[in-house]
Parts: sequence; structure tokens; C-alpha cells
Amino acid sequence: MKLLITKGHIVDPSQGIDGIGNILIEDGKIKEVRIEPGEQRAKSKERKSEVRKSGSEIIDASGLAVFPGLVDMHVHLREPGFEYKETISTGTRAAIKGGFTTVCCMPNTNPVNDHASVTEFIIRKAKQEGHCTVYPIGAITKGQKGEELAEIGTMKNEGCIAFSDDGQPVMNSMIMRRALEYSKAFNVPVISHCEDLTLSEGGVINEGLISVTRGLRGIPAEAEMIMVFRDILLAELTGGKIHIAHVSAEGSVDLIRYAKKKGMQVTAETCPHYFSITEESVETYDANAKVNPPLRTKRDVDAIRRGLQDDTIDVIATDHAPHHMDEKLREFDQAPSGISGLETALGLSLRLVDEGVLTLKQLVEKMALNPSRILGIQKGTLTAGSDADIVIVDMKKRYKVSAEKFASKGKNTPFEGWELRGLPIFTFSKGKMYEW
Ligand SMILES: [Zn+2]
Repeated sequence: MKLLITKGHIVDPSQGIDGIGNILIEDGKIKEVRIEPGEQRAKSKERKSEVRKSGSEIIDASGLAVFPGLVDMHVHLREPGFEYKETISTGTRAAIKGGFTTVCCMPNTNPVNDHASVTEFIIRKAKQEGHCTVYPIGAITKGQKGEELAEIGTMKNEGCIAFSDDGQPVMNSMIMRRALEYSKAFNVPVISHCEDLTLSEGGVINEGLISVTRGLRGIPAEAEMIMVFRDILLAELTGGKIHIAHVSAEGSVDLIRYAKKKGMQVTAETCPHYFSITEESVETYDANAKVNPPLRTKRDVDAIRRGLQDDTIDVIATDHAPHHMDEKLREFDQAPSGISGLETALGLSLRLVDEGVLTLKQLVEKMALNPSRILGIQKGTLTAGSDADIVIVDMKKRYKVSAEKFASKGKNTPFEGWELRGLPIFTFSKGKMYEW
């Protein structure tokens, strides 16, 4: 089985590639990437964004962008236990549609992925029904209760590539210290959901003017910042690998920047909603904009963008958190947190390129290469011999976000009706082609 993608604008930071060229795929692997000498990027702009397939073996990608398949290190696939929200099948289909070929699923399922048997179930199910590569993330503590460490070693052997109690913080510093010691011993990152529950308890939106005027309990940015700094210090103490999940606040960006300057080992991610919208989105009590940590102020959004720009923030992850519509229609206080993010992430992130915040190379780094490096997986690259995980994007294509058309079961998005640019039109997962 051979397939040739021709004349696409290939961006692959792992090999320093940014030019027009061809990619040869053979038996689900990348055989060769060849850049045409002298071909200028500008040329591709003159070409029409149209796709012609001659036979089944050649895809003409003239005028289109070609990236390594995107890697999302933070999704909730909901299976086992919450199949009414999402399944491994629907979630991975949403991933493919959004340009992602690898997703890492958080352990807050039912049962919690705190045991090798659950890890085994997820991996088996993903092989049977999944559309892209799925790596499970194991729980740090049993039942994500924050009390007793889960069996990190056996879960790692079964296939977990990171550990997190995401959705819940590990409040006990001694337990977090032990988890980081394990992370060092097993060479896997601990992904921290940073939230001091004693400060955030009962809060549903950012603490500030809007929480006061709307009569909703607020969560101060300090609830995040305190834990960000605690975890950086514990990583320093133990030599463990800490990755800070869903950074939302200016102060957290400052702390991570400071730590990196000091040479401390820390990596961080943010999500498209934290650089696209502010707490004003919940002024109307729209539960589709209810997330944890909460949307914050314009000042925070600007700081997140600067953090992405200067590489303080390494990764853009979706925190894809599908919910059933009925749940999001509950009263704001009662509605669950989260956004169905896989199918809007690329378009929202490309806005940063349009606005000059990120280069295209940086975008591919943050959405493919960096998460792969943090997790130690051979993904996010078009190197010969790698899985043929590729996304071909029509960068000029404008479209309106319509949750109704999501492949995800979760239609919960605050971006309904937004006009975005840049649509994946072919996604290859281990050489298997999906066309949209
Ligand atoms: Zn999450």
C-alpha cells in the first residue's frame, strides 16, 4: 500500500522542514519526505485550494498545508462509564475531524483508570473501535480521592504514559511528592490539575466583578497559582517531571516563566478557550462557557498569549470535555464544567497565527511535537519510519462552528456560530485516510 501526497506546504518542526514538497507513505508508515528545492512558500498562496485525487494513490495537496497529525495530551473520552457523554469511538472520530491523530485520555471515568485492568480495557477498546491512537493517562491516587497512591508501576507497564488526577487536585503535598518520586523512577510525567480546593470550593466562575454582579461564587486565580508553585517546588525537590494542565491565569504564567528561567523542570499547557474568550462569556449564565479552571479576564488572556509566544507554555491541549445537553441546561451552579473542544481547537489556534502571536512552526510544535516530547512518544513528526499520522489543512477555508455537525457526542461549545479559518480536509491515522 503506497500513497503519495504531492506539492503540499509541509511544516514539520521536528526536522526543521517548512517548504513545498512530497510525502511518500508505505504500509502505514512515512517512507520519505522530500522538499522541492527552490519552491517558495508564497507560491502556494497563488494556487487554488482545491483537491484533486488522481486514482487512489496520489493526493494533490497544492495550496494546502501538511502537518504531522496533531497530538492532544488532554482529552476526556468518557468511556468506561459515561458513554452517554462520549465513547472512545465518537471521541476519536471527533479527534480525526479536528486534525488530531493521537489523544491522551484522562482517568476520570467510571471506574476510574486507577488500575491496570481499566487501562487494558481502554487500550483494547481503542484498538477495536478507535479512529486514532489513544494513550491512557492513569490516576495518581486510587479513585482520584487524593488519599492513597494508585499502582503507577503496573499501570505504566500496561500502557499509561502519564499520571494525573485531572478534574481533582492532589491536595496532600506529601502524596504529590511521592507521585513525583515515582514519576522520576518510571520516567513518566505527572500532569497536575492545579486547584487549591480550600480556596475554590463552591466556586463556579472567576472571582471578580462579574461573580459579584451575577451573584455566583468566584474562584480566585490564586487557587491555581498556589498549586502551580507548590508543584514546581515539589518537582525540584524530587527531580520528577511535572506538567501543569490547563493554565488559565496570568500569575501562573509568571510563575512558570520564573521557574523555567531558574532551570527548573516544568512544562505547561493551556487550552483554546483560555486564549480566546473571557469571563464575560458567562455573564449570560451560559453553562457552555463554564469550565474548570474558570475563564478569566482580558488581562489573563493576554498573558496566556504572551506565554505561548515566548514558549513559557509548551502545549495547546483541548481539555475536550463532552457533556450531555441536558446536563449543560441545568442551572449554572449545577451544570458540569467543560467544553467539547476537539473540533474547534485548530481553527481557534490558527487565529493566533493570523494575529501574529504564533508562527505556524510554533503552532505545530505546541499541537504536535511538544506534547509528544513531553510524553516520550514517537508522534508529532514526519520523520521517515514514523506512523503515517498526517493532517492536510485547507488554510483558506472559512467555516462557521456548528455543534450540530460535531462528530463528538458533546455539543457543548461556547464558540457556536464563530467564523474560523483552517479546516482539516484529510487526516491520515497510521496511513488510514479520512476525508472531510
Ligand atoms: Zn481535563
